[in-house]
Formats: sequence, structure tokens, C-alpha cells
Amino acid sequence: MTDRYAVVGNPISHSKSPQIHMAFARQTQQDIHYEAILAPQNEFQSTVNTFRQQGGKGMNITVPFKQEACQIAASLTERARIAGAVNTFKFADGHIQGDNTDGAGLIRDITINLKIPVTGKRILLMGAGGAARGVILPLLQQHPTRLVIANRTPQKAQLLQQQFSEFGPVIASGYMDLPGECFDIIINATSASLNNALPELPSKIFTTDTLAYDMMYSTEPTRFLNYAAQQGVRHLADGIGMLVEQAAESFYLWRGIRPDTRNIITNLKKI
Ligand code: NDP
Repeated sequence: MTDRYAVVGNPISHSKSPQIHMAFARQTQQDIHYEAILAPQNEFQSTVNTFRQQGGKGMNITVPFKQEACQIAASLTERARIAGAVNTFKFADGHIQGDNTDGAGLIRDITINLKIPVTGKRILLMGAGGAARGVILPLLQQHPTRLVIANRTPQKAQLLQQQFSEFGPVIASGYMDLPGECFDIIINATSASLNNALPELPSKIFTTDTLAYDMMYSTEPTRFLNYAAQQGVRHLADGIGMLVEQAAESFYLWRGIRPDTRNIITNLKKI
């Protein structure tokens, strides 16, 4: 019998997850169906319950429900608990298991697809929202020299510094107070690019060898990637690779098979 999976969010029509998971299923010959479900803002839990009652085996959770998903899971993986956000449910043994695969997806994209090590590097993480929370622990587990978190509202970066300092060298900052140094990897985990905006970044933070990584993806380079290119940065990446890799990690959790992501990333980049 075909196993059912879904991504739930609001809005959801733009989601590429059904396309990605159905491509994984064809490649690995898994008999699944994967759909996108729009949940009204205050009906996340009932939407999840209905899907479970209909025999659903698992779900991905996207904006704005990742933190609420954390609360309704009966058990959490360590990475989801520490992130305080869940992007994957597995329905098994009568309960909801919550996981967060965003960080693993980012690390796989940077270290395996882009072949850039994180270990020993100076990293700037821009943003302190849900996406940033999900990647801090996986980044620290790679043992960077330092991880600076900069946010428009500096207090939120300070809270993350307090929460994550036990796992590694974390420094909180506002954009204009960034330490007078450049970074090896700069990750834009803000939603600024969605509005074609750019945090106020000092230009001296880039070198030509810096990796500028925008978690957002679109057909055109984002404002952040354009700005980095103007500063002479040669290594530019958007979030398509992370999107496919976090999906592959969810697929592995559900099906026990890791799909090959390379062709799928290449095909999505052509669209
Ligand atoms: P949140 O709403 O939780 O957080 C938004 C963050 O962006 C906050 O830190 C906010 O700062 C900051 N911000 C928003 N506008 C500006 C601006 N104009 N200037 C400076 N900072 C700004 O969003 P998420 O964390 O959930 O998502 C962030 C991005 O990551 C989105 O673009 C999303 O699409 C992407 N993403 C990509 C994934 C992938 O697989 N590729 C996975 C998950 C997310 P403040 O605190 O001051 O408000």
C-alpha cells in the first residue's frame, strides 16, 4: 500500500518539497505519495491529527509552525529539542516523534556539495529566528574557530549566545558592532532577502575566499549574494542545496534509505 507523507505550512503553494520527495521516491523505488497541505494559522494541530488519522506516516513542517510542532511532538531528538523547532514528524508506535533536519541539511550542503570544511573556520551567522536556531548546534559540532551571531535585534542574538555557549565558542553582535575581522563563511539566515532587503553589513567582513551562503533561494541571486559578489567574493550559494539535503535527511528518517541528492539539486537550480 502507498505510504502517505505531506508538508504542512502557511503559505504552502510555493513549496518544492512534494517535487523533491517524489523524485527521491522514484530514485529509490519507494511506494509513497507526498502532498502539500495548507493549515489555517490556528488549526495546525487539528490538521496534523486529521492527516495521522487518515493513515499518514510522516510530515514536514514549515513556516510558521516549526515551534508549535515542537510542542505537540511526544518525543524529540536532541537536535530538535535544543533548536526548539521541529521540521519533521514521524508517526510511529502511536506517537509523534519530532526531529529537526535543517542543520544537518546545511552542513551536508556546505561540506559535501560545496566541499568547504566548517572545522577551524570563522563563521558569521546572520539572523536569530527559527532557521538560525536550527543550525547553531550542527555548526558548533563541526568545531569552527568561532561562531558570531549577528541580528538586527541584538538581544535575540544574546539569548542564543547564552543558550548555546555550552556547546562551543558563540559571540553575539549587532551588525554595526561586528568585531573588526573578516569571516570564512557568512550565512544569511534572515528573511531580509524575501523583501529584497539587506542587513547593514560592513564590507570588511568579506575576503575573496569567503563563502557567502543565503538560505533563501530564488531564480535570481538575492540582494545579499549580489552584495557579496560586489565585494569580490567568489564562492556564492543559495539555499537550494540545504532544502534538498534537509529533505533527504527526513526521507532517511522515514524510509531508512538515503537518496542521491546531486541530480535533484542540479535540476532544481535550472528552474
Ligand atoms: P524568522 O521569521 O523566524 O526570522 C527572521 C530573521 O530575519 C530574524 O532574525 C529577523 O531579525 C531577521 N530579519 C528580517 N528582516 C530583516 C531585515 N530587513 N534586516 C535584518 N534582519 C532581518 O524566519 P526563519 O528563521 O524561519 O527564516 C529565515 C530565512 O531562512 C527565510 O528566508 C527562509 O526561507 C530561509 N530558510 C531556508 C531553508 C532552506 O532549507 N533553504 C530552511 C529554513 C529557512 P529580528 O529578530 O530583528 O526581527
